Amino acid sequence: MWLILSVGFLIIAALAFRFAVWPALRKPSLDGGLQSLPKATDRVEVIDRSEGRQVYACGHEDADRFDLELYGERQRFNDAYFKDKPYCGDCLLKFVMEGSIRCAACGLIIRDDDPVALYSSGDGLGRYPSTLVDGQYVGCMRWDCCPSGGFFSGHWTSQGFKPLFASGNSVVGEVFATGEPVFIQSGPKDRES
Ligand SMILES: [Zn+2]
Ligand SMILES: [Zn+2]
Repeated sequence: MWLILSVGFLIIAALAFRFAVWPALRKPSLDGGLQSLPKATDRVEVIDRSEGRQVYACGHEDADRFDLELYGERQRFNDAYFKDKPYCGDCLLKFVMEGSIRCAACGLIIRDDDPVALYSSGDGLGRYPSTLVDGQYVGCMRWDCCPSGGFFSGHWTSQGFKPLFASGNSVVGEVFATGEPVFIQSGPKDRES
C-alpha cells in the first residue's frame, strides 16, 4: 500500500516538474534577451540594403547586399548568394514566403521543408496566426521554442504537413504506440538550392 502511494507520489511529482516547474524555469531566460530566439513581430520585409547596385537573374536591379526580416528574425545571405544573385530582395522575399507559415508557439517563420512539432495544447499557443493539422498546432523546432525533440512530428511543405510516421504520431507518440525506441535525424532536410 505505502509502496503504491509512494510510487504514485513520485510519478505525480515528476509530471508536476515536467509540466509546471520546468517550463516556469525556462521562461525567464526566454524573456531575458540572452537566448537566440527573437521576439516575433509582424514585419516581413527587405532590410539594410547596401549602397551598391547589381542586376539579379530575376531581371531586377537592387542593392548588392541586403538582409530579410521575417517576423522579427533577421535572415542573412552569404557572399555566394550575392555572387550567384538569383533573386533581387523583393523576389527573394516572395520566394521565401511562398508556402511558409508561422510557428504557433513563437510566431517565427516555418518554411517549406522545415521540420515541425505538433501540439494539442499548451500555454500561449495560437497567440500568433497559427496553422492547425487535425486540430493540433504546428510549431517550429527551434532550440529555444520546442521543449523537446520528442515533439518532432514531420515536415511542413508547400503542400501542407507531411507526417514523419504513417500513423501521424510524434516521436514520443510513436514510442508509446510501438514500445520501440525511435531514432531519427531531427535537423532540417537538405534544401535543393
Ligand atoms: Zn526580382
Ligand atoms: Zn517556434
